Amino acid sequence: ILSNVQCLLNQQDQLDGEVGVGVYQTCSVIRYWSIDSVQPNTPKSSRGQRGETPVDRPLPSGIEPGLAEMIKRDIIQEDLKISWDDIAELGTAKKLLKEAVILPMILPEFFTGLRKPWGGVLLFGPPGTGKTMLAKAVASQGKTTFFNCNASTLVSKWHGESERLVKCLFQMARHYAPSTIFFDEIDALMMSRGSGTEHEASRRMKSELLSQIDGISSGSGDTTNGTVMVLATTNKPWEIDEAMRRRLEKRIYIPLPDLTARKAMFGLFLKTVEIDEEVTLDYLAARTEGFSGADIMSVCRDASMMPLRRAIADKSPDEIVELKEQGALQFTLGVGDFNEAFKSVQSSVSTKELERYQSWMDEFGSS
Ligand code: ADP
Repeated sequence: ILSNVQCLLNQQDQLDGEVGVGVYQTCSVIRYWSIDSVQPNTPKSSRGQRGETPVDRPLPSGIEPGLAEMIKRDIIQEDLKISWDDIAELGTAKKLLKEAVILPMILPEFFTGLRKPWGGVLLFGPPGTGKTMLAKAVASQGKTTFFNCNASTLVSKWHGESERLVKCLFQMARHYAPSTIFFDEIDALMMSRGSGTEHEASRRMKSELLSQIDGISSGSGDTTNGTVMVLATTNKPWEIDEAMRRRLEKRIYIPLPDLTARKAMFGLFLKTVEIDEEVTLDYLAARTEGFSGADIMSVCRDASMMPLRRAIADKSPDEIVELKEQGALQFTLGVGDFNEAFKSVQSSVSTKELERYQSWMDEFGSS
């Protein structure tokens, strides 16, 4: 099917007016939905015939070799394996990301003019809600070279030289395009400018970053292989510099999970353990109002350890091995184990903070 689609796409110019557009759009949709059917272990489309990845391509001249090596080693991330199905719910965010990030990468010819891709996409919301997982799922699609820039590492490791690093980063992203440049915790990098304590070097780095993003959204530079996209996450959207906020045009709110999402998460996280039938997913979801995905993961981890802790209390290592050999360390988790876990894990986001996210969403978010 895909090769037929490709063939039709290539013939698009020879088809008349609306028929041509219709064929083109149908094909685009087929190609779009086929992304989901690509298994993580299928060869990457971006790999060459001998299986080399884009980063095996030689560097162009004008890139500082030392910085380029560091970026290849520490920032470019390959073989991430997070699928959309590993992420519970968040259907709207997944759809928006496919449309805003993945689709323009595979159909650059379609995303021109009015359909020009978003310059940058921001995922914001309380901590532990799956923002980083979503970004990694984008990377795992294997369609783009993924530059994983943890803002705090960038600043601390490259203090004073971050401006050069940012320039080199974007040069490489254009060279290895299609690329996604991902800034985790962008608030740490782009705090509001102009505060008295701000260092000159940090100010220059921010200006460089802004002008590089302008460069990619205006389509200038040597992007010969496709699009470069900026994707960022933050738990503190209100701390982002206004100039950066404007460039992150698509702002997607990732809220705390609702009842349905919490139920789905428990289902996902407890897949590999045995649970007593008295413990229902409905019960667990109802008990965790206000919890983030990360909080729910902590509850599951903690609960899953409870029977083991009880069984090995006061036992010596030899006795524990003996218990294992007798098969006495296989457990079914009961409601008491979860209730015990609830005592030590609490919701990590306050109502006041939630109101702050909602009002930022109302003012600056994309629906
Ligand atoms: P964030 O970037 O929003 O702070 P992460 O994406 O790093 O959060 O998620 C932290 C952890 O919480 C994940 O490793 C995962 O265990 C769990 N988690 C959060 N949201 C989800 C979700 N929607 N589906 C599955 N796991 C989730």
